[in-house]
Formats: sequence, C-alpha cells, structure tokens
Amino acid sequence: MLRQRTLKSLVRASGVGLHTGQKVRIALRPAPPDTGIVFRRVDLPSPVDIPARAGLVGEARLASTLVKDGVKVHTVEHLMSALSGLGIDNAFVDLDAAELPIMDGSASPYALLLQQAGLEEQAAPKRFLRVKKLVEVKEGDKWARLEPYAGFRLSFSIEFRHPVIERSTQSVTVDFAETSYLKEIARARTFGFMQEVEDLKGSGLALGGGLDNAVVLDEYGVLNSEGLRFADEFIRHKLLDAIGDLYLIGGPLLGAFTAHKSGHALNNRLVRAALADSAALETVVFERAEEAPAGIARLAAQSN
Ligand SMILES: [Zn+2]
Repeated sequence: MLRQRTLKSLVRASGVGLHTGQKVRIALRPAPPDTGIVFRRVDLPSPVDIPARAGLVGEARLASTLVKDGVKVHTVEHLMSALSGLGIDNAFVDLDAAELPIMDGSASPYALLLQQAGLEEQAAPKRFLRVKKLVEVKEGDKWARLEPYAGFRLSFSIEFRHPVIERSTQSVTVDFAETSYLKEIARARTFGFMQEVEDLKGSGLALGGGLDNAVVLDEYGVLNSEGLRFADEFIRHKLLDAIGDLYLIGGPLLGAFTAHKSGHALNNRLVRAALADSAALETVVFERAEEAPAGIARLAAQSN
C-alpha cells in the first residue's frame, strides 16, 4: 500500500521574509495521518492554526498568502512545493512572524531541511486526488488547466521580452515518471527585474529581496555574479511555484497541469475551480504500489 508520510523529527530554520523583510523562525514537526499541512502562528497571544488549503488563499498577486480570521501566512509556495516534491502528506509548520523565510529563493533549502528531519511512513493510505475531467481557467491571454493523466505531469510556457529569458527555453514539460524534483526543479530560484524590485520596495514589498535570494535582471542581463543555476531557471521556477500552489488542493494530484503565463492567482483559481466541481476530482488509494501509475510510487517513496 502507498502510505501517507510525515517527518521523522522536528527541524528548525530561520531567515527573512521576501516581502515583509521580517526575521522569522520556523519549526517543521511531525503530524498525525490525515492532518495535511498546517501552519501555526506561534507569535500571537494564542496560536492560530491555518491549514494549507486553496480556499484560504486570500492574496496571490506576488506570492500565495493564506488568511484565516485575519491572520496571515505569506509566501507559502516554496515550502509547499518542497513538501509536494518529497511526498510529505502531514506536517505542522510553526512560525513566529507573518511570512515564511525566502531562504535562497528556491525550494532547495526546504527540501534539504525535510530530508534532514527524515521521512516516516504512517499507517493510513496515501489519498491521491485524481483529475477526472478537464478544468480550465483564463484571464486575458493567460490560462491554466488540469486534465486526466496517468501520473503527474506539468507543462508551462511563458513569454517574457527580455534578452536573457528569450534566449532560454520559454516552454517546458516535466513528467514525474522520469523527472527528479530534487535534481530538476527544487534549485530553481525566484527571479525579478531590477526596476520592478525597486518599485516593489517603494510600495513596501520585496523588502527582504536581494541578490542572495533571487535572480535579478536589469534590461540587459543577470546581475547575480554567480549566474544561473539552469539555462532555463526562470521557467523551472514557474513550475516550482505551480507545484506548491497545486499542493494547496489538499493532497497529491494525479493529472496533467498545463499553463500559459499563469501565476499564483490563476493557479489558485484553477485549484478552486477543480474543488468546486464535484465531477472534477476523485480520491484514490493504491493498495499495491505497483497499481500506481509509473513514477508515482517512486515519487511517493523518494527521499533523495
Ligand atoms: Zn516562487
């Protein structure tokens, strides 16, 4: 049987929030079966639990923010992406500020932290959400869709008019039957344009942003002295974000995601549309690992 997984032990980290610029400490803790991922603001007079669910995404312009009873957790997507990539179903995430640490702008530090905690199989079966029919959302020339697929596959295309991005691949497909999340996706960093970063800082956002946690571009090229981690790091990061946003559906997906110029807001609308359509998703468990689609059992068991 493919089983749910949690962390073997507690791990801690600290850093600064990308948008708030605030210092934050986090603790990732094991959680019982069927808990899902639950954020806990421990800095408030009485701690507030915020489940990582698409219906609680209250802001999604620059990052995915969960909001419950006015209490917020900003920028959950990179940690959610790492949790999805490592097949972790249940965990508590304690934090003492309103935003998760941006770390190096990728999901890799989170993936390393989760590996350091170790992963533990639980008694309950892993509950996958299988896409049963096409679900699509659009906004202008942007769109995103989910379709039935025997496995987990993501395709993304972007259209940035910038000399460096235009030279790199602007569309990519990854199928987790043959792709390692840790090797191919987790290390891709957030990117931003110098002018945009300045504007955001002017309006009190991206206060923690800089060359140590983002790929920053001016109008000619990449400002980071170390260069890019992948020639197509930009689009790989869009996939990383989408994996995190999709995990807010409440479990591992079986299906194909395809998107053009999508971002956190449209990804969230897609997940909400799928959850709102009673014919769009069904829950499945695999009594025998070999009954799962190619790559899914491996993904569910992957820890390196
Ligand atoms: Zn991101």
